[in-house]
Amino acid sequence: MALVKVCDMHDLAEWWVEVEATRTFAIDGRSYEVDLCGEHDAALTAALQPYVEVSRKVA
Ligand SMILES: [Zn+2]
Repeated sequence: MALVKVCDMHDLAEWWVEVEATRTFAIDGRSYEVDLCGEHDAALTAALQPYVEVSRKVA
């Protein structure tokens, strides 16, 4: 049986929720990485969308 990565937003009891995307983001000078299932990946994008639209890109 192959090991699968579990979405970080779920309790380990929900071991079947596989990672579909690894997202990185930075806030307050710190960078973060999180493994997400499709549902939480979409939720992160939706939550940040209004902020991304008005934010400046930093080189
Ligand atoms: Zn999830």
